[in-house]
Amino acid sequence: MHWIRIESAAYWSVFVAAFLACAVWESFRPKRNFSGTERRWGKHGILLIICTVASVALYRISPVVMAVNVTGSRFGLLNRSWLPFAVRCIIAILALDLVRYSTHRLSHSVGALWRFHQVHHSDPDFDISTALRVHPVEVVLTQGAYLLAVAVLAPPMVAVLIAELGSILQSFFSHANASLPRWVEKPLRAVFVTPDMHRIHHSEEVVEQYKNLSDIFPWWDHLFGTYVEKPAAGDDKIVTGLKGFQNERSLGIGFMLAQPFRKDSEQTTPAEASITNA
Ligand SMILES: [Zn+2]
Repeated sequence: MHWIRIESAAYWSVFVAAFLACAVWESFRPKRNFSGTERRWGKHGILLIICTVASVALYRISPVVMAVNVTGSRFGLLNRSWLPFAVRCIIAILALDLVRYSTHRLSHSVGALWRFHQVHHSDPDFDISTALRVHPVEVVLTQGAYLLAVAVLAPPMVAVLIAELGSILQSFFSHANASLPRWVEKPLRAVFVTPDMHRIHHSEEVVEQYKNLSDIFPWWDHLFGTYVEKPAAGDDKIVTGLKGFQNERSLGIGFMLAQPFRKDSEQTTPAEASITNA
């Protein structure tokens, strides 16, 4: 009970601080004007509440508490005392980020998962509230995979907490409707996913939706051949969203919850489209 309180306090503190910091940044230095669909934040906030309630009600355990519970596991990979603690922490943070890259990549290559992930991509605009726009079924599935990974790895609890906080911070930062100065963008993008990098992933061009899938560190995209530096349309002309869904209709809560089950949701995954267009 003790750890879950510390984790919740840290998680929601970073959540609010990162959201506010990125909101101020994109309000004062917006990258692009909205397409007339700026009343999205309330709707995306409602989706966040639904997702949080669904995930907490179903699992009743957080990644940090899972890590505490499996500390003594005989089958854990990262609870071996002969490995220095710092090394176990570094491996754990990298491994958990790789898990997020892998589940995201699966969401773009498995038809059933793509149906749910389309809700995130069908946002007609791209800003920090896009980070909250995720279908509850996707949240439940990815959280389940993540908890399973923690159970198998048995990583140090501190490493899980750092990975969790890093991921939430990064999710607002990488969806910001803002750009870093060029002299910051280049060195920072070598280490962290930046808004200019992640925006390409939200391009309406299907092939680009299978690029830049990393969560915190961009290295997985470099390693597995899914990195692209610039959008084909150019940084200033890139159009985000899903073709056919860039309108007011895509903002309704009912629409977002029902989109995976609609007949007009996109059948071809970005992975399949990439092979066809190669
Ligand atoms: Zn995606």
